[in-house]
Amino acid sequence: MTLAALDLAADVDRILADLGVATSRYKGGTLAVRSPVTGKQIGALPEHSADDAKAAIEKAQTAFLSWRKVPGPKRGELIRLLGEELRAAKDALGQLVSIEVGKVTSEGLGEVQEMIDICDFAVGLSRQLYGLTIATERADHRMMETWHPLGVVGIISAFNFPVAVWSWNSALALVCGNSTVWKPSEKTPLTALATQAIFEKAVKRYRDAGYEAPENLSTLLIGGREIGEVLVDHEKVPLISATGSTAMGRIVGPRVAQRFGRSILELGGNNAAIVTPTADLDLTLRGVAFSAMGTAGQRCTTLRRLFVHDSVYDQLVPRLIKAYQSVTIGSPLTAGNLVGPLIDKAAFEKMQAALDAARSAGGKISGGERVLSDDAANAYYVRPAIVEMPGQTGPVKDETFAPILYVIRYSDFNDAIALHNDVPQGLSSSIFTNDMREAETFVSSQGSDCGIANVNIGPSGAEIGGAFGGEKETGGGRESGSDAWRAYMRRATNTLNYGRTLPLAQGVKFDI
Ligand code: NAD
Repeated sequence: MTLAALDLAADVDRILADLGVATSRYKGGTLAVRSPVTGKQIGALPEHSADDAKAAIEKAQTAFLSWRKVPGPKRGELIRLLGEELRAAKDALGQLVSIEVGKVTSEGLGEVQEMIDICDFAVGLSRQLYGLTIATERADHRMMETWHPLGVVGIISAFNFPVAVWSWNSALALVCGNSTVWKPSEKTPLTALATQAIFEKAVKRYRDAGYEAPENLSTLLIGGREIGEVLVDHEKVPLISATGSTAMGRIVGPRVAQRFGRSILELGGNNAAIVTPTADLDLTLRGVAFSAMGTAGQRCTTLRRLFVHDSVYDQLVPRLIKAYQSVTIGSPLTAGNLVGPLIDKAAFEKMQAALDAARSAGGKISGGERVLSDDAANAYYVRPAIVEMPGQTGPVKDETFAPILYVIRYSDFNDAIALHNDVPQGLSSSIFTNDMREAETFVSSQGSDCGIANVNIGPSGAEIGGAFGGEKETGGGRESGSDAWRAYMRRATNTLNYGRTLPLAQGVKFDI
């Protein structure tokens, strides 16, 4: 079927009706949503006002005050049910992600699987919100550390992971005893409506099973940046978790800090890989191709810079160029296509501007041209671009959110690491090598300066068990696994005296 013949609005209606979303939530409003697959409109949502957002935060605060009293493992039961509801809705929500964002089917489904995985993780976590018992210098005293819920957690998310980012934050925030208010990307509100409906199904089952969950435990706000700003500035939102561009984080971070709120910032990346003389080139080729071209280059962890050793350059790079020329591009809903569309025209124009800048800086470009425009004039499909650069110059140090891979030769390993780290961003990174010294150096303190450093797998994508996030302009936040949950709680140190005297710390005397 041609792109022009696809009736995605009908698919959206069917999916949202099955999930119980009323048409009035996404028709007849002011926020127009286009599918990048066809470029056609698939929804027009009523938007919340700033006053609506303030009222929602107050209600979420009320929800928090009762939810914090529910024992952790019972809070976990709600997230267990959410995981079950997500399993039941996986195909539908995955398809909606593909329609609204343009991800190929397996990646749309993969995003929902990630939501299910974080629910499983959070259920286990709900029994493991551990503190410490700490040795005290005073006799008949005990010192301990306890973790308490924080309050309303504000979640601001980007278009490219329209629903997984909500789940990474909400699953943890809710088992930690918080309520959440979510402002999704204005480009992807339909998947947010679907997710909210799935959450509400889980709440209903939770209540039907005899548990108590307050109203407004998880609230969805539809709108643009100005609605996000209400969350950012509100004193009753102690934590803002914001995912998006570095430009957004540069505004949000200081505004939250100004009122002594906390933030988790998950911002742009400019991820690189180093291919050394001992690399397994077949494996490298596959790792690089997926990391650089998958999701049409629209992942924060997309591979954007490749440093290839002189000795393997001529074996690897021509094969990569061939893979770029032959990769299947087209509707993400058609089996076999590996590269779907860019999100919109602005993304296409930014890609072309970066390619022009690369050309001016001496880059040799293969690919990058628009395809399928005859079939869908308002959809922006491109052939991924691979650009051989004379050095790390021109646009190479910037994140362009599109499938452009800059390839640069190197001869000295230490120089490659220095170049690797010489960008403002610090999210994800990889080395392809079979040399143990190089691999260990890369993941050591002298190696990659990123939050994620991999060996013999690409930088793109992550499992929920690890803490996710990056350094420098990527913002420093960590979400998802490991001990990321601590960011959603407040720590209290408690000292208890079970004796009959009152010894002061450090031997201080104060006898009255
Ligand atoms: P974006 O910055 O344009 O928007 C992200 C969100 O921030 C949207 O919901 C938007 O409405 C909101 N927003 C923008 N300005 C705001 C402000 N001043 N106050 C409050 N809210 C504001 O990003 P995008 O184009 O949707 O997403 C792509 C970017 O996100 C890329 O840079 C990508 O690397 C990054 N990203 C990072 C991660 C990560 O985990 N590090 C994950 C996904 C995407």
